[in-house]
This record gives sequence, structure tokens and C-alpha cells, in this order.
Amino acid sequence: MSSRKKILIVGGGFTGLTAALRLSADKNLAVMLVESSAQLGGLAAGFPLAGTSLEKTYHHLFLTDTAILDLVKELRLEDKLMWCDSSVGIFHAGKVYPFKTALDLLKFTPCSFLGRLRTGFTALLLKHRKNWRGFVRVTAHDWMTRACGSSAMASIWTPLLKGKFDRHFDKVSMAWFWARIHARANSRSKGGGEKLGYFRGGFNLVTKALENKIRARGVNIQTSVMVENFLADERSAIINGEKVAFDFCIFTGSSYALAKLLPNQEKFSNYATQLRSIEYLGAMCLVFTSDQSLGDYYWVNVSASDTPFLVFIRHTKLVDKDFYGGKNVYYIGTYLAPDEKLFNLTDDALGNIWFDYLPKIFPQFDASKVEDKFIFRFRAAQHIVDTDYERKIPAYETPLPGVFLANFSQIFPEDRGTNFAVREGEKIAALIRSRLTA
Ligand SMILES: Cc1cc2nc3c(=O)[nH]c(=O)nc-3n(C[C@H](O)[C@H](O)[C@H](O)COP(=O)(O)OP(=O)(O)OC[C@H]3O[C@@H](n4cnc5c(N)ncnc54)[C@H](O)[C@@H]3O)c2cc1C
Repeated sequence: MSSRKKILIVGGGFTGLTAALRLSADKNLAVMLVESSAQLGGLAAGFPLAGTSLEKTYHHLFLTDTAILDLVKELRLEDKLMWCDSSVGIFHAGKVYPFKTALDLLKFTPCSFLGRLRTGFTALLLKHRKNWRGFVRVTAHDWMTRACGSSAMASIWTPLLKGKFDRHFDKVSMAWFWARIHARANSRSKGGGEKLGYFRGGFNLVTKALENKIRARGVNIQTSVMVENFLADERSAIINGEKVAFDFCIFTGSSYALAKLLPNQEKFSNYATQLRSIEYLGAMCLVFTSDQSLGDYYWVNVSASDTPFLVFIRHTKLVDKDFYGGKNVYYIGTYLAPDEKLFNLTDDALGNIWFDYLPKIFPQFDASKVEDKFIFRFRAAQHIVDTDYERKIPAYETPLPGVFLANFSQIFPEDRGTNFAVREGEKIAALIRSRLTA
């Protein structure tokens, strides 16, 4: 009989794949990875487009993303990573304004002159400030209003907060906001503008390399397979109606997804309540290709009260369109509560609403010239990082014996991202190893 310890990893996103990579290095462990969707990659999963792979939701790396950059080096994919010049615009009151440099900010007339000066000063302050602890209990909306004034809030920050957090926009912690500005401001090359990383072949290249490596080490990878629930005291889970035993399990899905899998017993009810206190928004992205040239920016924040989406992205402004057979590739995206009407429209209805709005930004846009069109929805895409958030963060160790949780709701104050998923995957694998040796 084999004496190898059994490790069950639930979720084939970057956290689960990284944990599998680290744990499968130990020949004394039998690792099984179970993913409910048909493919690996989680929120960073790709789909085939023009002979390559593109993310279902827009993805790039920052220069500060050290955990994933180290992994990329280890997987020998460094030469596939391109550092590209970013360009950012803001759509406001019928016009797209450049919004990349200090000079762009100074010329951003929808905001009062004083508001522009205060915004520039605040951005500098947040870039250089290292201590974020004092920001935890203050909302970004209040702090930024005090720092930049109401004109800057109305024209720049409030629409961004609303786009990312929907109706929760005025609850978000300033610590999260600080981390976001801090990472972006520090993702500039020396003396140059912002650089963003993207892979030839998309993020799927990293997913595939991880998959190949862990498969070669004997990890049993099962896709389209769901962990249905955990059993109370038996170190086992129900998968495809069968009981599967483990010594240790790492769950990497959302916190509310774990709450649903807990045994229905009084002793787990407080934990279930804690997990459910973390609210999630869903994300929707429409990807389309066209010969039409729409705008001069990679990223356009849509700052208008009537807008049905948050962001318009010209992916092929960041990455050469030759990678996609010479086609322009665009994303339209937004975050929404999954129970909202827009989230539940049919693909055609949603596409029509978004395409009908697009000529307000790009008057030359012609929907009949759209070639390929894809719509993707994710139900647990962004958690609401409010001023009470630190208290809600679940520990790695759960009350279920042998079951550990590692997901992006534990990342704070940083914004979740593939870099932090890799970091968490490493950390949880190290924790399991330490338990095994203990
Ligand atoms: C719109 C959008 C844009 C983004 N942009 C960027 C970006 O530019 N750069 C960046 O680095 N990151 C970006 N991210 C974030 C990044 O994609 C995520 O932080 C990262 O992929 C999370 O990885 P994860 O493994 O922790 O979680 P996930 O990717 O969510 O993986 C968890 C997996 O667990 C599976 N699962 C859950 N429950 C079960 C179950 N019961 N049984 C089996 N499987 C289960 C799920 O299907 C899922 O695949 C973006 C995300 C979104 C939504």
C-alpha cells in the first residue's frame, strides 16, 4: 500500500496551479487538482483567437509583479514576455482625453485647475507613501474627496470607483486604493512611461507550462469536475458523487463558494457567516475584432454617469496586431453584481446595448464591421474591500480538518491579480509542507 500523502487542490487558476507545482516537487505526495470548468487558468483563462490565445478578461503585468516574474523565469518563458508602452485615456462628456502623464492631467479641463493640481500632488504622495495602515478604516471616496476636491472626484475618481465597485463605490477602503495607485505609479520604467507586460501567446502560455510541468510530475488533473461538498470530520470531499479522501486539501475558489461546500452543522455556522460576509461582484467582458481603428489608447476609462460599461480596451494598442492576423482586438468590460439585470441579459441583448453606446465615444464605430464577437461572464471576479475588510479576511486554516483556503479574498491591501495568486500559491504550499513535516 502506498504511503504517499494525498493532497487535493480545488481550482485550476494561478493559485491552484502554483501550489500544485510546489507540492508535486515532493515525490512523497500524490497531488490531485480538480477544476470545475472545462479548462485551466481560472479568471486568467484564454480562448482561441486568430491562431493564438487571448484572455477572456483583459490581462497584463506590472513591473512590480515580482512573484509571477520569478515564476516566469523559472519556467523559462522570459523571452516570451514583452514589456509594452501603455497609453491611457478618459472618456468624459463626449471626448476622450489623454491621461498618462503629468502634462495630460494638467490639460484635463473637465476638472477644475485647482482639482488638477491637487490630484497631481495626491498621486505623488500616494506613490511615495509606504505606510498604508492608517488608510484601512477610511473610505477612498472620503479621503480622496478631502485630498483632491469635488471637481476631481466628479470627473476622475468617482466614476472609476463606481465602475470597479458598482453600488459599493463609497465603501471601499483607502488602503486598497493606495495599493492600486502605488503599484501603477511604480510600474514605470526609469525615466519613461508606464510599461505593461504581456506574453507572446497570452497568459495561457504560463498556464500551459504549469500544466505540462505538473502533469509530467504525475499530478492527476481533472477538469469539468466539481468538488460538491466536504465531509465534517473525515478529511474527505464528495467529487462526482464519490467520496475522495485526502490528508490535506487546498481550496482556491471564492469564499462564498467554500461556504456552500461546508457540512450543514452548527459548528461550521460562524465560519460560513464569516465567508459569506465577503461580497463579490461579477465581471463581464465583450471581446471583438474589427478592421476599424478605434482610438489611440490601450485603455480608456469611461467616466460618464449614463455609461453601461467601465472600460474600453484596445488590446492591439499594447500588443502588435500581427499576433492576431492583422486584426484589431478590443475589449469592453465592466463589474456588476451578478443579480443585476445587465449581468443576466442574453449575449445578443448585451452586445447591442454596448455597441449602441460605442459611437458616443468613437463616432466612426460601425457595428456591421465587427468580425468576431465573444462575451464572457465570471460571477466571482472582485470582492468588496470595505473599511471593515481586514476583520473579514479568512485565515488559511479552516475549521475543517486538513482543509486550507487560499484565494484572492485574502489579499489585502493589494488588488487581486495573477502575481498575488502565484504568491499565495507559494505560501499555501509552504504551509502544507510545514504541516507535513510537523
Ligand atoms: C476583468 C478582470 C481583469 C483582470 N486583469 C488582471 C490583470 O490585468 N493582471 C492580473 O495579473 N490579474 C488580473 N485579473 C485578476 C486575475 O485574473 C486573478 O487575480 C487570478 O487569476 C486569480 O487566480 P486564482 O487561482 O486565485 O483564482 P481563480 O482564477 O478564480 O481560480 C479559482 C478556480 O477554482 C475553481 N473552483 C471554484 N470552486 C470549485 C469547486 N467547487 N470545484 C472545482 N473547482 C472550483 C474555479 O472554477 C476557478 O477556476 C483580472 C481579473 C478580472 C476579473
